[in-house]
Amino acid sequence: MTGTDSNTPQSATEYYWSELPKYIAAVEHAIATSQKIAMRPSDSRRQYWASVLFTRLCSAATSVLHLCPGSPVNRDGKHWDFSYLAPIIRSVVQTALMLFYLGTEAVGEDESRARLLVMQLRDCMERLLLFQNGGADQKQIDGFEKQASQLRSELKSNPYFARLPSRIRRSLIRGDRATILTDDQILDRLGVLDPQGRGLLRFCSSHADVSPLSYYRTGDNNRGRGEENEIDVNYSATAVAIAREFVQRADSDIQILFRDALTVSSVKKPSAARDERFESAFNYVKSWQGSHLDEFTKDGDPGTPLLCSDCFHDEGLRLTSAEVGQKDMSGCPNCGSQSSMKLTKKHVAFLAQRFFVRGSIRRPTYGGYPAVQFNTQQPTSIDVAPWLEPDIQLIEKTLQVGFFHYAPRLWMVGEVEPLKALQNANSRAEVISRILNDFPGRILDIDEHFYRVRTAPAHPDSFSEYDSPPGEKLGKGRLDTLELPILYGSQDLEVCLHECRVAAEDEIFIATLAPLRRLRLLNLAEVPWEETVTEFESLDMAIHMLFLAGSHSYEISREIASAAHRNGFDGLVYPSYFTLLRTGATPFETTLGLSHRRFPGFPEYARQNTISNLALFGSPIAEGLVTVRCIDRVMLNKVEYKLNFGPLLTDASRSDKAAASSSSRKPDQQS
Ligand SMILES: [Zn+2]
Repeated sequence: MTGTDSNTPQSATEYYWSELPKYIAAVEHAIATSQKIAMRPSDSRRQYWASVLFTRLCSAATSVLHLCPGSPVNRDGKHWDFSYLAPIIRSVVQTALMLFYLGTEAVGEDESRARLLVMQLRDCMERLLLFQNGGADQKQIDGFEKQASQLRSELKSNPYFARLPSRIRRSLIRGDRATILTDDQILDRLGVLDPQGRGLLRFCSSHADVSPLSYYRTGDNNRGRGEENEIDVNYSATAVAIAREFVQRADSDIQILFRDALTVSSVKKPSAARDERFESAFNYVKSWQGSHLDEFTKDGDPGTPLLCSDCFHDEGLRLTSAEVGQKDMSGCPNCGSQSSMKLTKKHVAFLAQRFFVRGSIRRPTYGGYPAVQFNTQQPTSIDVAPWLEPDIQLIEKTLQVGFFHYAPRLWMVGEVEPLKALQNANSRAEVISRILNDFPGRILDIDEHFYRVRTAPAHPDSFSEYDSPPGEKLGKGRLDTLELPILYGSQDLEVCLHECRVAAEDEIFIATLAPLRRLRLLNLAEVPWEETVTEFESLDMAIHMLFLAGSHSYEISREIASAAHRNGFDGLVYPSYFTLLRTGATPFETTLGLSHRRFPGFPEYARQNTISNLALFGSPIAEGLVTVRCIDRVMLNKVEYKLNFGPLLTDASRSDKAAASSSSRKPDQQS
C-alpha cells in the first residue's frame, strides 16, 4: 500500500479516489492476461489449476468493483458498505493464496502432488458430507468413499507427505484441511503483506464472518447504514489496496508460469510468403481507414492516466471525457488537475472515436458514414474551430495519430444495387419478389403480446380506437396505403411511444394486444446470410438502409407491404427508424471500410441491436385476428436525453462533397 508524497495527511476520500483507479487498472490488466491464456491447453497440472484459480480470481476481483462507488460498473453508486465488500476481498485473497499454493509456487514434484491430493481429498470429504445430509442414494455415497480411500492411499505413499509431522498427517488424512500449509505460512512464502496488512486482512475476515466487530459500531458517524462516511470510505480504500497487491502478484506469477505460451502468441508469423504488391496495396487502403481501438492497447497499456477532463477547451469534448474517464485524485500529468476524471491511453482512444468519428456521422439520403477518421499513418488534415485546436493537438500527441476527412466507400452513401433498383419504378417489382423469397418468416403466436399507443383517442375505452386508423388518415405512414390499412405496434414500449411522437401534455393510452390465432409475418428485421455478395450487392444492406431512411423512402416500403399482403402474409416485422436512438448503436459500423453486417457472427450482434416494429395488415381487431387484452393510461414523468458530441468542422464542405454528389435531396426530417 502506498502513501502520499505530500506532508498533509490524506483524507479518506482522497485515499479512496487514488486507490480505486489503481485497483481498476490492475484488474483490467489481469483480465487481459487471463484472456491471453484462456485458449491455450495447459502443459501441466500446475498450469491447469493456476488457470482455473486465476479465472476465479479475476471474477471475484470484478465483483469487488460492483460494490465500489465510482467504479466503471458502479459509476453512480452511492451505497458505501464496507461490511459487504470485506467478504469478497477475503475471497480475492484466499483465491490468490490457493493460486500460488497449487499453481505458481515452484516446488518439487512430490510436494506439488501432495498439495493436490490434500485439496482433492478435502473436496471429496466435503461432497460426501453434503450428499450424506442431502439424502443422496447409497451408490453415490459409496462412490465418494471409494474415491477418498484411493486418494488416502496415494497420499500415504507420497515421499513428501511421509516427512510431515505425524499430527499434521493425521489431520490431512481425515480430510479436515484443504492445504498442508496454514494461510499465514502461505502468506510468508508469498511475501506480500506486512504485519499491519495482515491485521487488516483479519479485520476483513471478521466482517465476512459477521463477528460482533462488524456490527458493534453501527450508527457511529453514519457507519453501517450504507451512507457515505469517513470510516467506511477509508476501510474500502484499504481493502481495495490489499486486493490490488494480490491481483498484481497473481498476474505477474501467471505471466511467468505461462511465459512460453504468451511469447509464442506475440511473435508475428513470418510474412515472407505475402506478395509485396498486395502488402503495399493493403497498407495503402488501411492508411485511409480508421484505426481499430485495440491498436492502442494491445501491448499491455499499464492503465496509467495520461490526460484528464480538465485538459480540454471544447465543452463537448470535456463533457464526453468526463463520461469516459475514471475519477482519480492523483494529479493529471498534463495539467495537474486533481479533481478531474482521468484518461488512460485506452480512454483517450475511445474518446477520440466517440467525439470525432461517431460525432461526425453524416446521413445522406440513404446510408451513413463518419466525416472524420483517425489513424497512425495520416497527419492531421482537418480544420476545426479555434477552441478545439489545442485539444486535437493534445490527442494527436498522446495517441500519435492524425485526423483526416474520411472518403466513404460508395455503398455507405447508398450505392447498393438492390436499393438503387428499388428506387426505380421499373426495376422495383423484381427486387421486391427477391425480398419475399430471401427474408425469413416470423410467427407471432397467441401467447405473445405487443403494444399500440394512441394519443387523445375520442373514446379511450373503445377497442376499435386501437385498430388501424380509419380511411381519412390512411396513406401517410411508412407502410399503409388507401387500399391497405395497417395496425402499427411494437414489443418495445419506448419505441412505441417514440414512434407516436408523444409529448408531456398529451393524453396517452396504451393497449396491450395479443393475436387470436398464429399470425404469419415477413421478418425484414432479420439479417439474412448472403454468402458471396459484397455490400454493393447486398439485399440485407438495401433493407437496412431503407428502414433507416426518412419519408422519401415510404413509396418503396409501402409497395413491399402491399406485395407481402398479396402473398398471404398477415403483416411485417421491420427495423424501427428509432432503433439507433433506442439502442445507442452506431449506424453502419465498419472495419477497414467493410460493413460489420457482412462478417460471420455479426448477424447475431446486429439482431441484438435492432428494435423490431410490427405492422399488421387490414383491421386486425375488427377482423378478429387480434384482441385487446387491456388498456392503460400512460403519463410521461421523465424523459432522458443521451448526447453524443462531435466536432464543428470549419472545412465541413470537404467532407460533405461525397454525400452531395450522391444525392441532391436533403436528409429527411420528420415532424
Ligand atoms: Zn489534465
